[in-house]
Amino acid sequence: MKVAYISHPSSLDHEMGDYHPECPERSAAIADRLLLRGTLDFLQALDAPAASDEQIVRAHSARYLAELRAAAPASGFHQVDPDTAMNPHTLTAALHAAGAGVLAVEKVVRGEVGRAFCNVRPPGHHAERDQAMGFCFLNNVAIAVRHALDVLGLDRVAVIDFDVHHGNGTEDILAGDERVLMVSSFQSGLYPFNGEIAKGTNMCNVPLPPYSGGGALREAVQERWIPALLAFDPQLIVVSAGFDAHREDDMSQMGWTDEDYEWLARRIVGIAEACCEGRMVSMLEGGYAIPALARCVDTHVRILAGLD
Ligand SMILES: [Zn+2]
Repeated sequence: MKVAYISHPSSLDHEMGDYHPECPERSAAIADRLLLRGTLDFLQALDAPAASDEQIVRAHSARYLAELRAAAPASGFHQVDPDTAMNPHTLTAALHAAGAGVLAVEKVVRGEVGRAFCNVRPPGHHAERDQAMGFCFLNNVAIAVRHALDVLGLDRVAVIDFDVHHGNGTEDILAGDERVLMVSSFQSGLYPFNGEIAKGTNMCNVPLPPYSGGGALREAVQERWIPALLAFDPQLIVVSAGFDAHREDDMSQMGWTDEDYEWLARRIVGIAEACCEGRMVSMLEGGYAIPALARCVDTHVRILAGLD
């Protein structure tokens, strides 16, 4: 299976202050791990283009995009919320992160590659139609999904979000769009403190209790996600791949292991093979225990590429 690996140097320039967990080292550690393990030898490495305004406003309001541009600082930081800040490189990095998803769906839908993984920052799944929050500015996954539907002509696209935090931004943008099914799991009671009640009939939200471990995840996937996904029968799957439910990650109390993430990647590939000839795009979201992040992403990508 030919897999694209899409990244951009600007991912390493966006940072939100000393000791911030969503840091450039995350992307760098993933790239290093893929290189050192030889995984990169089997991937088609591509540079992410910047997303255009036209692509972005399929998921965000034009007013929000203008506000984001106006807020970008020439030096220092512009604080969006207590946890989220723009430095002079953030806007560029966000445009290329969104552009990575657009390029990924284009390559996959046109059959030039079978799957794609985007190692980009900033992440996107908390960014709502009109609001940056939770380390996110542009909703990379929602922009990619809308591109697949509105430009590439697909009728049904599924989103799978396994980040430990609820993907409120993706839900905000895509709830009610019946061309989309979003299935997700997240730790209940954790930031952004919502998702327990889904915003639309096309949302399959599965909150998981803290300390429920990989067993609860596996049950959610088998009992909730897979039946919903098979019934929806997507033509493409776009994944919000967050690795912050890992037992080594102090952002959460889920206790997932490397083996749980490996199992999850195999199940998602299996669903893609059952529904849409294996077509899927996976985009990095969270994951803050850097060694665990690098290991789990490497395994994730190797399974996408059929190497493991
Ligand atoms: Zn997260």
